[in-house]
Amino acid sequence: MIIDAHTHYWDERHYPDGLLAEYDRLGIDMGCISGLGALFGLGDNGDVEEAFRRHPDRLVGFGYIRLGRDDAALVDELFNRGFKGLKFTCPLENYDHKAYYPIYARAEELGMPALFHSGIVTTREKGRRWDISSARMRPVFLDTIAHAFPSLHIICAHMGVPWYDEATTMARILDNIYVDITGAPQGWRLQKDVAFFQELFYWEGAYDKVLWGTDVHYRDMAATLARDRKLFRDLGLSEEQTENVLGRMMARLLSL
Ligand SMILES: [Zn+2]
Repeated sequence: MIIDAHTHYWDERHYPDGLLAEYDRLGIDMGCISGLGALFGLGDNGDVEEAFRRHPDRLVGFGYIRLGRDDAALVDELFNRGFKGLKFTCPLENYDHKAYYPIYARAEELGMPALFHSGIVTTREKGRRWDISSARMRPVFLDTIAHAFPSLHIICAHMGVPWYDEATTMARILDNIYVDITGAPQGWRLQKDVAFFQELFYWEGAYDKVLWGTDVHYRDMAATLARDRKLFRDLGLSEEQTENVLGRMMARLLSL
């Protein structure tokens, strides 16, 4: 089973139809989808909800929470609307700010995996002023959260680009931290070769902590999947390791 652990709802007409057609073509069974709004050229929680209600067997909703604006009541609301996980990006303080603890506590209690954007952020909407800081999304802030909420499944997106050591060291040491290897074909992944991944994922069980996802428009998904399948072959991953990365671990985090 292949699960795209990190995908988005592009703000285009009939986007989910195009996405699912591409999933069919590529043999991707399910996608964890979120909408982060206009700042990223994406739809919102309402769009995502409509999509997973229409395709409950294929799309898993990750609700977007803006840390610093939204409160813990939204976690319950999203859960009751059928969202299975949460997505965080662009917090107004560091990710581990105590004001956000009630949100993480509810996510932990409800068993909702938390996908954190980590590292330098790319936005699409230009010409406005924003209170955004990539430094607040350094992977190491997830370390505080992992200790405070040991049953919360934490996914550190993009391996913390460019703080890869930080992200993967935490995935090695902390049971509840995972990394995803998402990155656009022309983005940070372009310059990373097999040796880079070998150096970071050297420990026993490393590939139980790595999740596969796309984080690109569906038109770039074929290239993304082909690139990553080649990477897994070049790394010499066993069939079981490859299946874990491509979906089995994410299925476990979602209790599927
Ligand atoms: Zn993303």
